[in-house]
This record gives sequence, structure tokens and C-alpha cells, in this order.
Amino acid sequence: MTYPLDHPEIREAVAKLCAGFPGAYWRQCDREQAYPTAFVQALTEAGYLAALIPEEYGGLGLPISAACAILEEIHRSGGNAAACHAQMYTMGTLLRHGSDAQKAHYLPQIADGSLRLQAFGVTEPTSGTDTTALRTTARREGDLYIVNGQKIWTSRAEHSDLMLLLCRTTPREDCAKKTDGLSVLLVDMREVRGKSLTIRPIRAMMNHATTELFFDDMPVPAANLIGAEGKGFRYILSGMNAERILIAAECVGDAKWFTERATAYANDRTVFARPIAQNQGIQFPIAKAYTQTRAAELMLREAIRLYEAGGNPGEEANLAKMLCADASWAAAEACLQTHGGFGFAEEYDVERKYRETRLYQVAPISTNLILSYIAEHVLGMPRSY
Ligand SMILES: Cc1cc2nc3c(=O)[nH]c(=O)nc-3n(C[C@H](O)[C@H](O)[C@H](O)COP(=O)(O)OP(=O)(O)OC[C@H]3O[C@@H](n4cnc5c(N)ncnc54)[C@H](O)[C@@H]3O)c2cc1C
Repeated sequence: MTYPLDHPEIREAVAKLCAGFPGAYWRQCDREQAYPTAFVQALTEAGYLAALIPEEYGGLGLPISAACAILEEIHRSGGNAAACHAQMYTMGTLLRHGSDAQKAHYLPQIADGSLRLQAFGVTEPTSGTDTTALRTTARREGDLYIVNGQKIWTSRAEHSDLMLLLCRTTPREDCAKKTDGLSVLLVDMREVRGKSLTIRPIRAMMNHATTELFFDDMPVPAANLIGAEGKGFRYILSGMNAERILIAAECVGDAKWFTERATAYANDRTVFARPIAQNQGIQFPIAKAYTQTRAAELMLREAIRLYEAGGNPGEEANLAKMLCADASWAAAEACLQTHGGFGFAEEYDVERKYRETRLYQVAPISTNLILSYIAEHVLGMPRSY
């Protein structure tokens, strides 16, 4: 069945583009921990990374359901959008809170691919999930902010020109609320890389181009402050629901890929002179993952519907992210188990996708923190931290 927000024509076009980047392409990138440059370039040229940028700035001006369709299809094809998805949601901070001059300067260049906004520096080694405890500071000196500190897990920093950076501009002890005194800077990394900005890659469980960053008196023009000084935390928060929705769509794509692969393999593989799919022990985990995926997808559609109606659906976006991540993980488990030993062989892509989809239990928000949100903000229980 096709739903109104499904964008079948976009899905078809994205699937066609992705067919040019088969498992062998992703396996090679994974093996070499290489950035999928050709894939990102193809997506950029097709305009998909500018899906959410308004037409007046050279983007496609599409709604979030279209961006979800793009990301889901990438993942359903066996690929991975992590190399470039951040451009979709980090751009939203600039779009919603940037000045007219900032938008006019940056958005058209981001839309046509001449500037890459792929990096989002929030997490720090010592603060983790407790974002307001971050220690990176930006001190105002004339027309500049001088940034000092450290970030971790800043993905794609080596493959991005710009970075949205959350840092403290007023010490926490001087703020009425701990969420005050944080500011967002749009950093042009081309000017400071290798000088006051050091980028160190982190080799991770999967190919994610993630890094740690060190700022040593890094100058950023004060004109690159997004919105008002000290209000940055709420600007970042305002984009979280869109991020949750977009990531949930990737999970749905993964879940469908795993379920389709598991079903096909189970029907094909003969052991004890019959297809393994004939065993209920094989059927049930796949059927269960399919069921979970369908239910999670409905919650995602609901989050999208509310978002596109002008709301900012915290409950539904969080639920969708968690349910879709759980569905993709259940499907990954079922798929790997169905493949038996072959699930561990690189050439089937299952072990790679398995490693990739595991991330969604932890990032960009961990399951525990979603449950805490539901407990506190939806059910009215006391804050636990
Ligand atoms: C591959 C990868 C890419 C990433 N990319 C980016 C990026 O581009 N930009 C960026 O800013 N960040 C990025 N992150 C960071 C990511 O958002 C964090 O790892 C994640 O939010 C968890 O933070 P943490 O690792 O510091 O865990 P911690 O905060 O140290 O938490 C560790 C564990 O404790 C649990 N926990 C903590 N507090 C509570 C509590 N109060 N109640 C219950 N459980 C709790 C958490 O759920 C988690 O399971 C990335 C991470 C990874 C692994």
C-alpha cells in the first residue's frame, strides 16, 4: 500500500542511483575505512542532500517525508547514509536560527554542493550525554570568538568544510540555568584546519569517518554566531526531532534490507534436504522483525505527519527513533542468525550492515535517554538525572 507521504517517484529515483553503488562498493569502503566520496558526490549532484533547503536558496524545498524517503531507500538498498545525512539536519539550525545574511551566503553553496556542512560538534569526552556540562569555551575578543576545548565523535569533520559547533560562551556558574550560556558557531574549518584545529580520526566498529577535535585558540568570526549568544542549547534542541525522524527512516530502511535478505536466503538455503525457511525457528524471528518494522514505521509516519502539520512532536519523534532502531536491530539479529556461518562472511554484507545498524541503539541518542524522556515528559515521572 502507498501512503500519501511515501513519495514513490523519489524512492524509485534514489533506488536507481543506489543501484550504481552495490555491496561491493560499500564493502571496499568498509575494508579501507574510506569515505564513500563517489556516492556522496552522486547524491549531491542529484540534489538529494539539498532536499530540505528551500527553493529560494537553491534547494529542492521538499518536506521531511521526502528526506525520509531518500534516507530509507539508501539504507534499504544496502548502503549507508551516515556519510552525508548530517547535512540534512544540521542545515536546519542555520535555516531556522541563522540571520538573513548567513542564510543568503551559505545555503545556496550548501545546496549546490560547493560547501559541505557535514560536521556537528556537540559531544565531548568528559560530558557525554550531559550536554550542558560541555567544556569547550568561546571567548569574545573584538570581532572574533576564540575557541578552546575538545570534541569527540565529530563525524565527517575531515570531509566537511563547515561545522556547527556548540560551545560555552558564559561560564555555567554565571548562568541562571545550566542550559543558558551555550552558543552555536558556524566554523569554516578550511581556514583553521591543521593550525588551531586538530582533527584526529577514530577507528570505529564500522566505517563512519568519525573524529576527535582539538581547539587551541581557534578564531571564529563573531559574524558566524548563529542566533543570539547564550541561546545555542535551545537551537540545537529545536533540531533534535527532525534528526530523530530522519534517523528512524534509516533504521526502517535497514530493517527492510535485513528482512528481505533473510527471507530470500532462508528460501534458498537447503539443509536436511529442505529449505531452512520451512523451519519455524527460522521463520518466526524474521516474521517478528517484520511485524516490529511495520509497527515502528506507523509511528514514524505519525511523527512525520505531525511534523509536517507544523508541530514539533517530541513524543512521537522519540518513540519512532527508538521503535525503528529496535526493529532494525531485531531484523539484523534475525538476518545474521538465518545466514548461519555465512552471515559472518564479508561478501554477504550482513555482518557490515549488522555493525552499522547497532549504532542506532547509542547514537545520536541512546535508548536509555529516550526512555527517560518518555518517563519524564510524557508520563510525568520525576527527572532521574
Ligand atoms: C559512531 C558515532 C558517531 C557519532 N557522531 C556524532 C557527531 O557527529 N556529533 C556529536 O556531537 N556526537 C556524535 N556521537 C556521539 C553520540 O551522540 C554519543 O555517543 C551518545 O549521545 C552517547 O553519549 P556518550 O557516548 O558520551 O555516552 P555516555 O553519556 O557516557 O553514556 C554511556 C551509557 O550510559 C547511559 N546513560 C548516561 N546517562 C544516563 C542516565 N541519566 N540514565 C540512564 N542511562 C544513562 C547512556 O544511555 C549510555 O548507554 C557519535 C557517536 C558515535 C559512536
